[in-house]
Amino acid sequence: MEGLVFHVDVNSAFLSWEAAKRVSMGEPDLRLIPSAIGGDREKRTGVILAKSIPAKKRGVKTGEPVGMALRKCPELYLARPDFRLYEKCSHSFMDICAEYTPIVEKYSIDECFLDMNGTKNIYPDPIATAHEIKDRIKRELGFTVNIGIGSNKLLAKMASDFEKPDKVHTLFSHEIEQKLWHLPVRELFGVGASTADKLERSFILTVGELARLDIGILHSLVGAKLGDYLHNAANGIDDSPVLDHPEKAKGYSNSTTLENDVTGVEEANKILLALADTTAARMRADGARAHCISVTIRGNDFRDRSHQRKLDEATDITTEIFDVCRSLFSELWDRKTPLRLLGVALTNITYDEEVQMSLFEDERKEKARALDKTVDSIRTKFGSATIMRGVTYKSSLDVGKKHKAQMENMKKD
Ligand SMILES: [Mg+2]
Repeated sequence: MEGLVFHVDVNSAFLSWEAAKRVSMGEPDLRLIPSAIGGDREKRTGVILAKSIPAKKRGVKTGEPVGMALRKCPELYLARPDFRLYEKCSHSFMDICAEYTPIVEKYSIDECFLDMNGTKNIYPDPIATAHEIKDRIKRELGFTVNIGIGSNKLLAKMASDFEKPDKVHTLFSHEIEQKLWHLPVRELFGVGASTADKLERSFILTVGELARLDIGILHSLVGAKLGDYLHNAANGIDDSPVLDHPEKAKGYSNSTTLENDVTGVEEANKILLALADTTAARMRADGARAHCISVTIRGNDFRDRSHQRKLDEATDITTEIFDVCRSLFSELWDRKTPLRLLGVALTNITYDEEVQMSLFEDERKEKARALDKTVDSIRTKFGSATIMRGVTYKSSLDVGKKHKAQMENMKKD
């Protein structure tokens, strides 16, 4: 029996969300003028993260430097990114989607898959249902989406990409030949630029040509694994399930977009401590420990950088995690670029029973564990705002201060 999956994709998400917010406050609609999200107009730094259709018509491209975009379109209106707003809008539209099926997979901040297989009795007409979802998002939240309807995730995703904005498209198995096969190979989901180059050099130009290509030849071109994927994808075959949440937490992470740019180590360390603490608490609640810790920073150039460290022994202790975070951060940051975002991730998770504590495990570690337990239990009872770790970790922050003082002394010397 043929499956039924919807793929919901917000049209120029960051720009639409900023525009919808402004329209709700009675301001002009950014979607109707050449406008873009990203960078700094005066300093002409940063890159374009999203653009309006009028800006697109003027040649403005996502990912290009702001300076270049302004040369093509001097009257381009630039709005600053607002990741808090994006998170909020992302939740809001996915909440509407979740009213139609219990299985919603968040694919990215502005895209989700809906498993509609179990809903055929309640919603017998999938096209009408997709229109209803699309129109409700537009009416209630003020921005438009495309919805692709397909027999599986791959076809639904390809369908949502057809014509934009504010459209519903279908791509069922019986429509593959008519709707999918004329597309250039590089538009097929999962075909990267280098694979596309390789295929085009062998005169495989359309998805249809790829679909009908002898599998042996395809294997010799791109290898067996990718070859099998491409053969299936071009023929519309995909059996990956819509996952309402990742099977088992692969890790725990938390990040924060900073209201004001952070420019000092001490300030950054305080934020890292809060992140390490809240992330570790979630992990402890699941009885898990991490073998790997990573820190991500985003400068005001919107470039993300991260470093990670593998530990010999898995940990769930906040102080240990924070110490690693602090050292990763000091390796990462050039102490010049103002910071827009800080993030901490705990991965390589183990759920083993508590490791037999080594006889030589020092008292300090036991005390730290006991402290974490106390903090966690108070937090569970009274909410997360009740406890500030700052005082407890004053000593670690002082180390940072000392280090800073030393650095300054060295400079003086
Ligand atoms: Mg989108």
